[in-house]
Amino acid sequence: MLNRKGSLIVLSGPSGSGKGTVLGEFFEKYADENVFLSISATTRNPRPSDIDGVTYYFKTVDEFKNMIKNNELLEYASFCDNYYGTPKKAVEDKLNSGVDVILEIEIQGALKVMETTKDAVFVFICPPSVEELEKRLVGRNTETLDVIKKRIDTAKWELTNIEKYDYLIVNETVDDAASKLKEIIDAQRQSVKNNKEFIKTILNEVEL
Ligand code: 5GP
Repeated sequence: MLNRKGSLIVLSGPSGSGKGTVLGEFFEKYADENVFLSISATTRNPRPSDIDGVTYYFKTVDEFKNMIKNNELLEYASFCDNYYGTPKKAVEDKLNSGVDVILEIEIQGALKVMETTKDAVFVFICPPSVEELEKRLVGRNTETLDVIKKRIDTAKWELTNIEKYDYLIVNETVDDAASKLKEIIDAQRQSVKNNKEFIKTILNEVEL
């Protein structure tokens, strides 16, 4: 295998854009062992489908604040009254061992990563329309009406940030969106900036 560091892929999209479903499809159909999905810490309550340590690390507010204080998070944000953050160590370990890491995070967190991590690639997943997004959020039936309303308002603000990202995936169908994500990750793997070690080696063999 080529000796290269993994790429950091930041995937954002409003609640209701279907990014969780697209990631599920991507990992089932397209991912190889060299892609890792970062597990975030959060203070929100677990949903019935959540598993602690698998979908999230569920934390109390005090525990979360300690993680911030101890500089354990790559980024964090407050989203709809809860904290969410990316544990730094797991991400760094994977990247250093050549594994690509996907962060599925909301926009404020992604904007922080844009400031701190030059080499990351930023992907925005968007629903085909705002109407479709509202339909998906209401149909999901996992939140109270109050929370849904807050998520819809937040989603509209989030859409105004699309142009800060490198790539856009319009989620018309899950399979199509998942295969587009694979194409983006493959392109990252072939990028010159991610193959510096190989380039150094081959240039050493060139006799001018
Ligand atoms: P949910 O409560 O629906 O699981 O997630 C709410 C939002 O938080 C989603 O947009 C999700 O992408 C985002 N999120 C999940 N983990 C993180 C994280 O570690 N950092 C940030 N900034 N956002 C996150």
